[in-house]
Amino acid sequence: MTVVRFAPSPTGLLHIGNARTALLNWLFAKGRGGRFVLRLDDTDQARSREEYAEQIIEDLAWLGIEPDLVVRQSERLDRYDEAARRLRGDGRLYGCYETPDELERRRKLRLAQGLPPVYDRSGLSLGPEERERLAEEGRRPHWRFLLRERRVEWDDLCRGPQHVETTALSDPVLVREDGTYLYTLPSVVDDIDLGITHVIRGEDHVTNTGVQIELFEALGSVPPGFAHHNLLIAGSGEALSKRTGALSLKSLREAGYEPAAVASLAVLLGSAEAVEARPDLASLARELDLMRLSRAPARFDEAELEGLNRSLIREMDYKTAKARLASVGADLGERFWLAVRGNLDRVRDAIIWRDVIEGPVEPPPPDREFLDVAARELPPEPWDDGTWSSWTGALKAQTGRKGKDLFMPLRLALTGREHGPELRAFLPLLGRERVEARLRKR
Ligand code: GLU
Repeated sequence: MTVVRFAPSPTGLLHIGNARTALLNWLFAKGRGGRFVLRLDDTDQARSREEYAEQIIEDLAWLGIEPDLVVRQSERLDRYDEAARRLRGDGRLYGCYETPDELERRRKLRLAQGLPPVYDRSGLSLGPEERERLAEEGRRPHWRFLLRERRVEWDDLCRGPQHVETTALSDPVLVREDGTYLYTLPSVVDDIDLGITHVIRGEDHVTNTGVQIELFEALGSVPPGFAHHNLLIAGSGEALSKRTGALSLKSLREAGYEPAAVASLAVLLGSAEAVEARPDLASLARELDLMRLSRAPARFDEAELEGLNRSLIREMDYKTAKARLASVGADLGERFWLAVRGNLDRVRDAIIWRDVIEGPVEPPPPDREFLDVAARELPPEPWDDGTWSSWTGALKAQTGRKGKDLFMPLRLALTGREHGPELRAFLPLLGRERVEARLRKR
């Protein structure tokens, strides 16, 4: 069975780029009847926060993602200790004592000598006495993974055949001096334990994959499939970051965007598919083809999101809108919704039209004579969608006005605005009493 994971660290708010990763995983798994694991990468105790973890779960639910399983790395430290012991026993994890300053000096020296600025593996050749002496000085080791120095290859589900020359890399530090783990080892141990079949993540992890494939093998496991998708960048060209909170899902939700608009943009932007609003994740799943994602970064454009939002609202049925209308006090029923939805940027903007209906509206411009005739010609109730045309038909015959001259004074008198929903649908919502009062207002 296909098993994927989405692995954010709970150190900030998910942004639309994280949503892209989450959605690509979700759509990929669900399209194959598979499972989706949410893995909270919370080994960095200082920066991880429970409130961010909860917010991540809430943001995913808002997008329509309900993980089959949630795991926290902080609860799996025993497993990482076990893996580290195994690697140490096999001579693949070795202790090093350099300080950051020493490493920096050596790096510069190597560069000056025309050598690649990678770690020189001094730690590997330390004998037991030297280690003891360093320990007596109060130094504690950090632990590096001994790379095999080879060409690691894989067939990427987004990028096609890939390779990383691990010869060109420093042996990565897996365990810090204080015994805490960097991301690399826990990620691989979890992927093995959870039976992850496909790792789908941003292309900023391509180099990590070279190292991690070596780690999977060193731990006696077959690496999963890998897919590295292009990244979303802000309109300004900057990378998105959890730390800044820019384009966070929370802020997009609070700005009134529909989850389906955000999801459509997150998935379809920078793909070969047209960026069109899809009403739900099931219809997005049909479009998903990881190979059809572009290789270039995809630039977020708020105007595009606005457009998607509008087109979703234009098609949204009352059942879907009802709860949201109610939450802003603008649930005036299905006819109201159908009349106004074509004029909304956000569902909550329906309050504008609720207020127009409930009044008062700004006084109309002086066109008294015509409005008096209009008031006299008002048909008796009940009113329906046909009332507008019979009323304006009669007015046209009486006054000889047509087109804008006929409609605009009515629109202004009834709504106080030059633009808005079709009056054919809006008129019955106002009702005769209000309409008459607005036409006769002096
Ligand atoms: N916590 C890592 C990140 O957010 C996970 C990367 C991965 O998917 O392996 O970048």
